[in-house]
Amino acid sequence: MSSLEEVKLTVDEFEALRLADFEALSHEQAAENMKISRATFGRIIEKARHTVVDALLNGKAVLIEGGNYRTGEFREFHCRKCNRKWSLTTFTKNNENCPHCKQIGEPLCTQ
Ligand SMILES: [Zn+2]
Repeated sequence: MSSLEEVKLTVDEFEALRLADFEALSHEQAAENMKISRATFGRIIEKARHTVVDALLNGKAVLIEGGNYRTGEFREFHCRKCNRKWSLTTFTKNNENCPHCKQIGEPLCTQ
């Protein structure tokens, strides 16, 4: 039995895809969210999309690598100002700026 070919996404690439393509943030908002420049974000998401499309087209498995991150470890935040909720996969700060209105959000208990 042949094993499935694998492609790898870094945590940053995965986070970039999630912010831009799932949360539908602009590249500018997403870059700010990840504390990186917009140009860097552009490079990361371009590579990430290429990797994912490669996996879809060629039936490869996608591995997410980096740090102690595991899929499903989301930290949720809530914004009191605009009442939106969002989640982050890679940041462990107690407070995060709301990606929508920049108000400081508070972490939600996910228990
Ligand atoms: Zn907000």
